[in-house]
Amino acid sequence: MRMSQLFLRTLRDDPADAEVPSHKLLVRAGYVRRVAPGIYSWLPLGLKVLAKVEEIVREEMEAIGSQEVRFPALLPREPYEATNRWTEYGPNLFRLHDRRGNDMLLGPTHEEMFALLVKDLYGSYKDLPLSLYQIQTKYRDEARPRAGILRGREFVMKDSYSFDVTDEGLERSYQAHREAYVRIFDRLGLDYVVVQADSGAMGGSASEEFLAVAEIGEDTFVRSPGGYAANVEAVVTVAPDPQPYDGLPAAHAEQTPDTPTIDTLVAHLNERFPREDRPWTGADTLKNVLVVLRHPDGSREALAIGVPGDREVDTKRLETQVAPADVEPFTEEDFAAHPALKKGYIGPGVLGEESETGIRYLVDPRVVDGTRWVTGANVAGSHVIDLVAGRDFTADGTIEAAEVRAGDPAPDGSGPLELARGIEMGHIFQLGRKYAEALDLKVLDENGKLVTVTMGSYGVGISRAVAAVVESSHDELGIVWPRELAPFDVHVVVAGKQPELFEAADRLVAELEAAGLDVLYDDRPKVSPGVKFKDAELLGMPTTVVVGKGLADGLLEVKDRASGTRRDVALADVITEVR
Ligand code: ATP
Ligand code: MG
Ligand code: MG
Ligand code: MG
Repeated sequence: MRMSQLFLRTLRDDPADAEVPSHKLLVRAGYVRRVAPGIYSWLPLGLKVLAKVEEIVREEMEAIGSQEVRFPALLPREPYEATNRWTEYGPNLFRLHDRRGNDMLLGPTHEEMFALLVKDLYGSYKDLPLSLYQIQTKYRDEARPRAGILRGREFVMKDSYSFDVTDEGLERSYQAHREAYVRIFDRLGLDYVVVQADSGAMGGSASEEFLAVAEIGEDTFVRSPGGYAANVEAVVTVAPDPQPYDGLPAAHAEQTPDTPTIDTLVAHLNERFPREDRPWTGADTLKNVLVVLRHPDGSREALAIGVPGDREVDTKRLETQVAPADVEPFTEEDFAAHPALKKGYIGPGVLGEESETGIRYLVDPRVVDGTRWVTGANVAGSHVIDLVAGRDFTADGTIEAAEVRAGDPAPDGSGPLELARGIEMGHIFQLGRKYAEALDLKVLDENGKLVTVTMGSYGVGISRAVAAVVESSHDELGIVWPRELAPFDVHVVVAGKQPELFEAADRLVAELEAAGLDVLYDDRPKVSPGVKFKDAELLGMPTTVVVGKGLADGLLEVKDRASGTRRDVALADVITEVR
């Protein structure tokens, strides 16, 4: 490809809205171009990189026997209604109507569609196990689209789904995917960790995330020298030396006879905080908040309670409407004094069940003097924080913190935890039978009995990977592509005006191409060598070959983008040098 022909304008200045290096560089180097917040066009160079990431993922998916299909992005409402996700997705879902007034959506992920496809065509245990994947554009109306293609509202994902009859089958499918993901992220050259994405205490290894280690990442994870790794959302912290908390009168130990269920909470939410757009359901995500209970005897108690995840509540409302009579609302001073406190609703915080989404709630409702108190609550989303008496809160109820700290022991005893940040690159998940049940995906087993299929769901952020690689591989001059992802293998630059330089470069490019290399050829006649070198550094091909002054002595300069080293190489040796 000749630079004189390439559809490309490199930019000297960073885009005004860019904060992270990958965003700045991918725009400046002409790989992507913004259309609207979180929505980007891929230009020729960017599209080549994207295709290379796709190819790596495709090869590794094929290697575990997964077969490629492709669904539309434009989908009908009904399947998502059946699994309740039409409601559950809330404002994250792009919704639209067709001309007949039917509700449609732009797919954020495709569990429903894959389950229905398999149901449509398969009916026997003999058809399974099965694994299908697609590489396809997804739509999520992210609250905070960020960092260019790193968090887009339109983005490319590889999503795959496994279908098995037995739990052991699902476990095998999951492991096969896990291994494929390890190979994918190794090949992408990323420094990554595999972390527990669900509560270790409650969910085992049912869900894991692949996080690329990066300061600018939005996920915080912990790891120990002994190999424990978890998203902080999934960590269960344990005190080095847990002390019994005896701030409550003994009578608090009495259990509420009618332990409330998820329905209680849902009914409560719908009654007290009705939503205009849709009712609350058991599948709504709840967030942690900490509340302080002030007991009748004057003692205070800190506890975590689940709150609806998509709501920000002003303190005024919290005070006037939300706080149940037995929970005192936080004051502004409380929020200021305790960074761990988050503003939000305080629900009744009861539950001891697993919800439809697999979110678990732990609570310990008790009754004292006829008044119900919720104590020792542990909460929702994938968050679990054990509040530790004597550390997270003191006997007089002061909250010190309620978060994992560096140096805390790993839950599995594998040493002190270190905290770091990462970018979620992939997510593998043992879904189980939830979706299959909702959509009635059943097959006949060996005994001719109908059994519900168990599913796994596995995602890789393809477009996000392009940005993540740039995050991990750039310098102040520009991008530094690993060979496997670079849009071109070699960048040939003519440094000078003399026709013989261009003639030599033309011949060299032809030879490199004949040797199977993909060449970007800077043949622009009126551009100075300085500008060409700057562009070459910004664009980031792994090797640059300069045809310049040395040619008179039969020499070309070969530059390595990553190390910055340059050496003179005889014309005849260049192909072996760069191959
Ligand atoms: P995040 O926590 O970053 O919002 P997620 O957990 O919502 O991601 P999943 O539903 O697990 O994402 O989707 C699978 C993969 O798709 C993610 O691991 C990530 O690599 C990618 N992905 C998700 N959301 C986006 C987005 N808005 N832009 C680009 N890639 C995304
Ligand atoms: Mg998300
Ligand atoms: Mg996530
Ligand atoms: Mg995820």
